[in-house]
Amino acid sequence: MPDIKKYIRDIPDFPKKGIIFKDITPLLKDPAAFSEVIDIFYQRYKDKNIDYIAGIEARGFIVGSALALKLNKGFIPIRKKGKLPYKTVSADYDLEYGIDTIQMHCDALEKGNRVLLVDDLIATGGTLEAAAKMIGQQNADLVEIALIIELEFLKGKDRLTDFPVFSLIKY
Ligand code: AMP
Repeated sequence: MPDIKKYIRDIPDFPKKGIIFKDITPLLKDPAAFSEVIDIFYQRYKDKNIDYIAGIEARGFIVGSALALKLNKGFIPIRKKGKLPYKTVSADYDLEYGIDTIQMHCDALEKGNRVLLVDDLIATGGTLEAAAKMIGQQNADLVEIALIIELEFLKGKDRLTDFPVFSLIKY
């Protein structure tokens, strides 16, 4: 198995000073490493009766849609406010200064759908908390949250105590 950490590049001070950005593009560029990541998720979720994979813009789209195809399940995009063309439902989350909003189409999920929520990384957990709330408001069941990277020192998981969170690598 490839050492996944080897394919994650640290970019200091991006997008602003003090942040070490975890760049997954070297991982995506390497077919063996990328498919290993998708396969680990596939093995974990193939027998969990998942109905849909929901992915968060933008890197959650890459990981989530690759996994959705392999699981032979549909993909649901969760996007920043104003990007989706049809009627939407929304959830807000706090930023350092102000709030941001994510949305999904109002008909994306039905009551009882079993959803796997996917993103590349959990930092503070605010985005995933909002996404989980929105999925819950549609009366769907959030089965698990799957991530490549967890920044443990930010304790994002503490905001997501109602759902299992699975990450492949931790910093
Ligand atoms: P948060 O809501 O704080 O958990 O932030 C999660 C979102 O921001 C994810 O979609 C990540 O892709 C992105 N993000 C936050 N911090 C980083 C980081 N240090 N490196 C790469 N992406 C990050």
